[in-house]
Amino acid sequence: MTHKLAIVGVGKIARDQHIPAIAANPNFELTATASRNAEVGGVPAWRDLASLLDAKPEINCVSLCTPPQVRYSDARLALEAGRHVMLEKPPGATLSEVHDLVRIAKERELTLFATWHSRHAAAVAHARNWLRGKKILRLAISWKEDVRQWHPGQEWIWEAGGLGIFDPGINALSVMTEILPQSVHLKQAELFFPSNRQTPIAAQLEFHDPCEAEISAELDWREQGPPAWNIEVETTVGTAKLSEGGAKMEIDGTETAVGHDAEYPGLYARFADLLDSGESDVDLKPMLHVSDAFTLGKRVTVEPFDW
Ligand code: NAP
Repeated sequence: MTHKLAIVGVGKIARDQHIPAIAANPNFELTATASRNAEVGGVPAWRDLASLLDAKPEINCVSLCTPPQVRYSDARLALEAGRHVMLEKPPGATLSEVHDLVRIAKERELTLFATWHSRHAAAVAHARNWLRGKKILRLAISWKEDVRQWHPGQEWIWEAGGLGIFDPGINALSVMTEILPQSVHLKQAELFFPSNRQTPIAAQLEFHDPCEAEISAELDWREQGPPAWNIEVETTVGTAKLSEGGAKMEIDGTETAVGHDAEYPGLYARFADLLDSGESDVDLKPMLHVSDAFTLGKRVTVEPFDW
């Protein structure tokens, strides 16, 4: 069956990743878009989701590519109109609103898919399999990029609910929670807020691991030059290093073959499977760690940020 899909929020990630991944997947047809200011050439366009859903009853699923602060209202609208929903990361602005979406989807027997694109990076499954059964001594996340290069002009990332450095940092946490065999929890955090902004520009996290590994994360948007999106995992029998956001993996300095990178094609393949099986997939672990960081983290004020 070809699913007739609508995209909400025609912005950077919709254009860079969703539209090409949908075009390459025969299970989906991009049937319409809802965006206040943008359109995709040749695709019927509406300014808001409510009018789109009214006008296009044949649309059976909606992919939400808007910033997190506005995701809940559209997700709820789509579910209440009987449509399946795919959510960009993070799946919402709060945990409780996502729990509410889970409830609505369950009551209406609809699919709700909270995506974590970095988990589909080429080397992540390989890292998870390699770590299985090994004694982990240390896991260190280093996720550093230049916010001016990767989020040019995006004001919502600096507004409450926009997550600041956790917008990319949650990708690292989605990989960590995918590859670690055990569950860990945050024990200490420092969040660095520019004096003129509502969200942090950098964060340092330390986790408690019941299996006694040292687990830490350094997230920073003040990096100049090429980004570092790395996770190093030291075990008693060798050290694995995931780099390029999980696209590459080395074991003790030797690159291992891991296949092709296909994050968004992987997400749409998974969405098609979920639609076929009538299931949902909502894993809130990465968001829980971010929420804990805002609850527990010591707030440090740093110099103002301007573009
Ligand atoms: P974006 O381009 O700034 O925003 C996407 C679109 O959402 C905007 O173009 C805008 O289109 C619409 N929108 C609706 N309400 C909005 C509001 N209150 N403020 C701003 N825009 C609003 O953002 P993005 O980079 O695509 O990110 C969207 C989501 O995808 C985020 O949750 C992000 O974490 C995730 N994501 C982004 C990337 C990336 O590389 N950029 C990668 C992976 C995931 P209209 O003005 O036409 O309504």
